Amino acid sequence: MKRRIFSGARPTGRQHLGNYLGALQNWVSLQDEYDCIYCVVDVHALTTLEDTSSLQTDIYEMVLDWLAAGLAPDKSILFVQSHVPEVMELHTLLGMVTPLGWLLRVPTFKEKARLQPKNVNYGLVGYPVLMTADIVLYKAEFVPVGEDQLPHLEIAREIARRFNNLFGNTFPEPQAKLTLFPLVLGLDGKEKMSKQLGNDIEIALSAEETVNRVMTAVTDPARRYRNDPGHPEICNIYRLQGYFNPLELDNIAEQCRSAKIGCVDCKMLLAQQINSSLEPFRERRAALASKPQYIADVLAEGAQRAQVIARETLREVKQKMGLI
Ligand code: SF4
Repeated sequence: MKRRIFSGARPTGRQHLGNYLGALQNWVSLQDEYDCIYCVVDVHALTTLEDTSSLQTDIYEMVLDWLAAGLAPDKSILFVQSHVPEVMELHTLLGMVTPLGWLLRVPTFKEKARLQPKNVNYGLVGYPVLMTADIVLYKAEFVPVGEDQLPHLEIAREIARRFNNLFGNTFPEPQAKLTLFPLVLGLDGKEKMSKQLGNDIEIALSAEETVNRVMTAVTDPARRYRNDPGHPEICNIYRLQGYFNPLELDNIAEQCRSAKIGCVDCKMLLAQQINSSLEPFRERRAALASKPQYIADVLAEGAQRAQVIARETLREVKQKMGLI
């Protein structure tokens, strides 16, 4: 039996290069070795989302990108969190074994409460409990995460451990599976690539749109003129070349330092590499987009398969807690 992996992502619509390099490629590569469950965590999105009018479109666009990038419904379970409502029940039950102090100490709760002072809802503080329910409902042993998410996983482990201590061994304590490319900076060269910050490059853009986006990127601020020598080590375009053009990296660094290459040419080189690397993805995406019912079918089938596991776990949990 393969060991099980669970991972989820909020429905953010079309995916960007940060999602692609930081998570998606990793998810795809894990499919052969592990029993993978990938989930669109739509309920989590409600903790910060007041306007839900684009939620269904965002789910559709994101899953379209997932499938085009290589997530395969015949290898992995792909589903939407709220389509398997057992997770809400487990969330409530795990809430009974989770000390409030643990949740109030979570740095992201404090940060989100600061960012949305008029909407400090229960979901914000209960987020780690729901996240734990997401993982342990499927008894996943591993969760692919970036380093910034390690504290969240630690809470999940603590909640699972506490439940096991109180009611008998039930859940594996989920372990982190760190991704190879943990942090992709955005076009501003400062912040993590993010749709909210508008510093992203969507992977579904056309080749021309990709060139236009890359051309807006901030490079070495000290390189004001074409003849100024550059400092590739502080330039995000150079960093991105490392993902898409690794064989040329030394050459680019040398040409940048000696001002043999200008930033416009360097960006064009990067955009071309991104485009050729994403061409098969874009072709698959266009083919999938021509049959929109397919996405709904994949998600319905995924929810059915996930629910079989979820019901079994929930029954065991209720039995151990004395509810049955
Ligand atoms: S030439 Fe390339 S690596 Fe050097 S500063 Fe310009 S964009 Fe960055």
